[in-house]
Amino acid sequence: MRTGVLGGTFDPPHAGHLRMARLAQAQLGLDRVLFVPCHAQPLKDTLPSASPFHRAAMVALALASKPGWLLETAELERGGISYTAETLEALAAARRGDRLVLIMGSDSLLTFPYWRRQADILALAGLAIVPRGGPLDLPQGVDPRRVHLLQARPLRVSSTLVRERLRRHEPVIGLVPRAVAAYIERQGLYGPARRKTLRRND
Ligand code: ATP
Repeated sequence: MRTGVLGGTFDPPHAGHLRMARLAQAQLGLDRVLFVPCHAQPLKDTLPSASPFHRAAMVALALASKPGWLLETAELERGGISYTAETLEALAAARRGDRLVLIMGSDSLLTFPYWRRQADILALAGLAIVPRGGPLDLPQGVDPRRVHLLQARPLRVSSTLVRERLRRHEPVIGLVPRAVAAYIERQGLYGPARRKTLRRND
């Protein structure tokens, strides 16, 4: 089995994430794609805005009725800082014989030199890179034979953009799946920062 592994914060999941899975599946003939929400991203200095529970629920909603696309909660269950090498080791142990492909945007590839245990990551998985508009240089030390550059025009959507639009009460139709937009609204996620009001007798 060829298994794609798409790690991210998914805060919230958006059309760009789903397109990454589609591109990797079509161009690399993957049998399935695992979406792996992180607990805490080592290279981001802020914690996710939505809780692990809500991010996992939104990913599950985004993947509903997509055969072969699965939510993988290993990093959320492990807790702490989510290191990709540990995740790939766990996946490889649980799915012996699978060939793993780590799918990431070109902005993530640029940060790859700062990832923990890069050599182990490259031994455990090939990399599939989705262009995101910035430079596409391969960082030093990354064996080009382990890297597939997927063919696609950059799609300018990000979780940051979605969160900003929601904060300003702007529509996010087309940016996130409908079921995810409905969930965000129902749960009151990503609203404008609310000031805590204290009543006189509190
Ligand atoms: P944020 O805006 O909060 O930083 P994000 O949109 O980058 O979030 P993440 O969940 O952090 O989303 O990203 C997970 C992975 O998906 C990363 O490898 C990132 O590069 C990639 N990615 C996200 N959006 C796109 C996109 N539009 N095109 C290509 N890759 C993307």
